[in-house]
Formats: sequence, C-alpha cells, structure tokens
Amino acid sequence: MERAFDVEKLIRQNVKDLHPYASARDEYISDGSRMIFLDANENPFDNGVNRYPDPQQRSLKAVLAAQRGLEVDNLLLGNGSDEVLDLLFRTFCEPGIENVITLPPTYGMYKVLAGVNAVENREVVLNPDFEPDMDQIRDRIDQNSKIIFLCSPNNPTGNTFSRDIIVTLLRNFQGLVVLDEAYMDFSSEPGWIDNLKEYPNLVVIQTLSKAYGMAGIRLGICCASPEIIGAMNKIKPPYNVNELTQERAYARLLDQDAVREEISLILQEREKLRKELALLDYVLEVFPSQANFLLVRVDDAAKRYQQLIEHGIVVRNRSSQPRCLNTLRLTIGTAEENAALLNALKLI
Ligand code: PMP
Repeated sequence: MERAFDVEKLIRQNVKDLHPYASARDEYISDGSRMIFLDANENPFDNGVNRYPDPQQRSLKAVLAAQRGLEVDNLLLGNGSDEVLDLLFRTFCEPGIENVITLPPTYGMYKVLAGVNAVENREVVLNPDFEPDMDQIRDRIDQNSKIIFLCSPNNPTGNTFSRDIIVTLLRNFQGLVVLDEAYMDFSSEPGWIDNLKEYPNLVVIQTLSKAYGMAGIRLGICCASPEIIGAMNKIKPPYNVNELTQERAYARLLDQDAVREEISLILQEREKLRKELALLDYVLEVFPSQANFLLVRVDDAAKRYQQLIEHGIVVRNRSSQPRCLNTLRLTIGTAEENAALLNALKLI
C-alpha cells in the first residue's frame, strides 16, 4: 500500500536539534571582489592550498548538477562514497534502536558502517539469480527500519537489479532507498538520477573512484531531495572534501571524452576476458556483468587465488560471501594486464 512519505519523520532528533558548525568560509561568501581574509587563522602566504577549501564545493557541484540535470541543492559531496554512506547512518539511524536492510552478497561497508554506528544490520540474502528477495525483505522490515541499501550494479555479483523490484521498494518502503551506483557508468542500463523527483525517498550514490579513475582523490556524490541533503549537510564535517580533490575532480569532470574513452576500452576488455575465461576447464561459470569486474566460479577459489599470487596477480576471493562459494572477482585491467591474467590462468 502506498503512503505519504515524510522525510522529517526519518531524521534523528539530535540532528534536528543541532546548530551546525559555522565555518569561517561559510560565513562570508565572496562576490568576486578581492578581499583580505583574516577570518580563519590560516597562514597568509600563498602556496595554492594555504586556504581552507570551499565547504560547499560550489564550483564542483555546479558542474555535477549541470551534467546530471539536477539542482545544486540535490547534491552532497563526501570524502569518497564511504563518507556519504556513513553520513546517511548518522543522519537517519538511531543507534541501538533502529535498523537497516542490506542484501548480501554485496559491498562490505554497509555492514561495517552499521556496526560502527551501532545500528542493527538486517541481512536478506539475494535470490539465487542475485535479485532482492522481496518476501524476505517484507518480513524483515518493521517500524524501526530506516534504510534499504541496494547496490546496482551489485558488487561482487555484477548484475543490476530489476527496475520493477526497485520501484516496488521505492513505492512501499517508508524509509530511504539508497541506490549505490558506484558501477553504473559501466552499465548499459539507465541509472536512477532522473527519478529523484518521482520518489522522495530515493538516494542515489555515485563515486569518481571507478569509471572516472580517481579512487585516490576520494570523491563521493550523494544525490537526493533538498530535504534529505539539507539534513545530511547539518552533520557533514565542514572541510570534508579537500582543495586538491575539488580541483582534480573539476578538471576530470570537464574531460568527459577521456572518461568515455576509458570506459569503452574497459567494456571491450570485459567482453574479451569473459569469452576467454569461459573456455578454461576449471572455470565453472562467468556471471554476466554490468560493472568493471567479472565474478567467476571456479573449482577451488582458494587454490586458484594462491596460484595467481604466485604469478604476481592479485584478485579477490569472494567465497566467504553468501551464494559466492568458490568465486573470484576479477577487476578489468589494461589490455596488457588482462593478457597477463589470461596467460597465468592458462598456465595454472
Ligand atoms: N560502493 C561500492 C558498491 C563499492 O564497490 C565501493 C568501492 N569498492 C564504494 C561504494 C566506495 O567507493 P568510494 O571510493 O567512493 O568510497
């Protein structure tokens, strides 16, 4: 049954009551004229980073908003999407009382952050086809369930979830539906950013760590309604995205051709690797992937992992995850790296 969604009811009381830290850089917004800044106890000698960064990352958000067809107040940026995920817990989930729903096998940080924030993590294992198990999810949700984390394309399984299932959750769940789109740039399917207006409980998380090739600068992007973003902004550390990150991210976002070219090379390599892997006799299954990695089921993952290490190649053994017994997750590398991987796999 559909009910009206009220974000105010989801925000923790301490967050509602909070007066956020007002940083010096927030108080005075420059109109472009040259001012003398003696307000933030910085060192005055210019070296490019002697000033605090813009706490609201205005230039960066302006580009991101334009590229995504959003308004700036639909965006919050974090020190990687891991920080964004943590902010979601701290804004919306009351420790010791409330809970979140996660769908393993999936990205491990949802569980870790639930633990860090003392929020109960209710795990509902994906179906054998790696889709959300709607009956089980319905059973586990109660009035204290605040967030469902959906990773689509999912890490480590590589599939996107069915759009009908996601819509059903968005329409019926009274908490937030967080869609982690870390790998969406590699997918042939559309993402969910265009649906933010339609679903007020939708939160889409993106990152520059994957397709944009900038894992080292740490930039995560949270897209949601201004109400959700506003609540998260209240508790965000003022200078969470540093100056160097803002500059590098800005330049990279303007270089869409280069990003697209790299994505296309990675996708070509993914297809090549998928075909070759399927020919190996100890590879039992190569799961379809909408991401920049392939999950493969082998005869003995621990043994194959170790053999690859001996050939100087590190992959990820995902066997400990539910439904992932004897699986390895292989990130798509450069053509040379993938050739080396295939060569090693043929030798072992
Ligand atoms: N979400 C998913 C699904 C991921 O796989 C990862 C990184 N492996 C992240 C989020 C974290 O990304 P970031 O580097 O932006 O913190």
